[in-house]
Amino acid sequence: MVMNDEIINKYYAKQINLPNFGIDGQNKLINSKVLIIGAGALGCSAILYLSAIGIGTLGICDGDNVEIENLHRQILYDIDDIGKNKAVISVDKIKRKNPYIKSKAYSRMITCENINLIASDYDIVLDCSDNYDTKFLVHDYGYNNKKTIIQGNIYQYEGEVFVFPFQNLTNCDIPCYRCLWDHVPKTFDRNTSIKGVIGIVPGIVGLLQSFEAIKLILGFSSEESSIGYLYNSIECELNKIRWCKNDKCKLCCRERNKYICG
Ligand SMILES: [Zn+2]
Repeated sequence: MVMNDEIINKYYAKQINLPNFGIDGQNKLINSKVLIIGAGALGCSAILYLSAIGIGTLGICDGDNVEIENLHRQILYDIDDIGKNKAVISVDKIKRKNPYIKSKAYSRMITCENINLIASDYDIVLDCSDNYDTKFLVHDYGYNNKKTIIQGNIYQYEGEVFVFPFQNLTNCDIPCYRCLWDHVPKTFDRNTSIKGVIGIVPGIVGLLQSFEAIKLILGFSSEESSIGYLYNSIECELNKIRWCKNDKCKLCCRERNKYICG
């Protein structure tokens, strides 16, 4: 469906009225392209809000099908979606939520063979995946291609959001995730089927990731370096963390590209 000025002013009227937002802000969102990797619990809340706010082009990448045990936390899906691909179902729901934006489904898992083909057209990548092999792959791709990555992680009642504004990279000057962890630690075994998850926590983390993307697109964020947010749902605490470049980091300080596909 074609979006004209009348539709824009009606559909987005309440957010356009915000201070420092206006029609210029809405047009920035309409002209932006965001890829969401993983349409699970984090991805579901991100997909709902980023489509509603009017991101002009949304890509959804996930090779999994909906299972009944997903429904308590993956709020895009209902009982009739069981057995269907999550990316395809997500795009179908986006079209009904906001038919004025473009959306594209990638019904496959992201791999080192396909990540450039899928992600190269997008300005920002939200990593909503549920495993650290994928998180490191997406992170390293972002670093090597100067593409901003916003990563979300959960563990039981806690969550994390990391913003890596790699589009600002000029001379390897931004600390990366491998400055903290240079490989996938065994303690990162956070399989939700074993450790448990309550849906609200990944929902909040997906929303935090979404708003970090919105802030970058609108120019609200003054952050030019990497930053992390640690969320504790029980204590209702959100703490910022920053870290320095690790001069032994194998991605951003030497042996560049070593980890891009492994
Ligand atoms: Zn590093």
